[in-house]
Parts: sequence; structure tokens; C-alpha cells
Amino acid sequence: MTIAIYPGSFDPITMGHLDIAIRASKLFEKLIVGVYKTPSKRLLFTAQERVELVRKAVVNLPNVDVEAFDGLTVDFAKKRGAVAMVRGLRISSDFEREFDMAMMNKKMAPELEVVCLMASPEYQFLSSSLLKEAASLGGKIDDLVTRDVAEALDRKKVRHMELTEKMIP
Ligand code: ADP
Repeated sequence: MTIAIYPGSFDPITMGHLDIAIRASKLFEKLIVGVYKTPSKRLLFTAQERVELVRKAVVNLPNVDVEAFDGLTVDFAKKRGAVAMVRGLRISSDFEREFDMAMMNKKMAPELEVVCLMASPEYQFLSSSLLKEAASLGGKIDDLVTRDVAEALDRKKVRHMELTEKMIP
């Protein structure tokens, strides 16, 4: 069976991520979405919340599994018997970083191919960080995320507002 992993922070999963997962699920017999537990960035959602939101988003894709992982992505890929690692490439931001990462991963695991899929035009400028910013300012983000993610963002916003209100003397 040809297995691929699709690793990322998914904080939270967007339609851009989902589009890549759907397309990759047609190329491989099994796709495992790997959610980094502890990426080196500030997170809005816990690992458990991120996994849960990805699971709900891919519920209709029978050959897609979701798992949290820690440590080197290549080790996770090896443990799962993956032949490829899938990444999404947006026009503006991703190429150099992805290229560097692919070279480093190739050094550590020469047998693992990195398969980059071009982001679809409608999601080229969509990132989890921009999405969180827009959502926190009350922007309309409904067509950029699943309904579960929109609701989860709303809940975070309410909690954040409660917190900041409590902080005001
Ligand atoms: P990471 O911390 O590894 O960059 P992300 O969750 O930000 O994790 O992204 C995971 C993967 O999905 C990366 O390959 C990223 O380039 C890709 N990706 C992010 N946003 C989009 C998008 N809008 N369209 C296509 N691919 C995307």
C-alpha cells in the first residue's frame, strides 16, 4: 500500500489545507495527516483540538487518517511506512522554506519523497495565521474554514474577550 503523510501545525485547519488533503488522498492509497504537537510557533489551539478539527474536516475521506506526532517528521513518516511527504505550496510564501526543509529531510531520509502540490488559486493567500487575525477582528471567514473551525474560532474569541475584560481594572 502506498502511504503518504501530510504534516503541519494545522492551527487551525483551513480550506487550503483541506484542498491539499483531498487532492493527495487521490494520489496515494492512504494519507496520514500528521499534526505537529509542538511546532515552534505560538498556537491558538491545543494539539487535541487541532487533531479533532482535522478529523472532523476529513471525515468523508475514507483513506485519510489523522494523528498527532512529535519529534522529527521523517521519523514519523518512517514509523508509518510512508513513501512520501505531502506539502502545499503557495505562490508567495512557501517555496524557499519548503525547499530548505525538503533538502534537510532528504539528507535524513533519502528514500522519502517530498511531493509538493500547488495551492489552488482561491486559497493562495490563505494561511492559518492570517485567518486567526481576521477572525479575531470579526472578519467574515466562513468560506475559508469548515463550520466546526468557524465555531471553534468563535469560542476562542469569546474566551479571549472574557479574559481581557477580567484584566481591565
Ligand atoms: P507548518 O507549520 O508545517 O507550515 P501549516 O499548518 O502552516 O504547517 O501548513 C502545513 C502545510 O500546508 C504546509 O505545506 C503549507 O505550505 C500548506 N498550506 C498552508 N496553507 C495552505 C493553503 N492555503 N493552500 C495550500 N497549502 C497550504
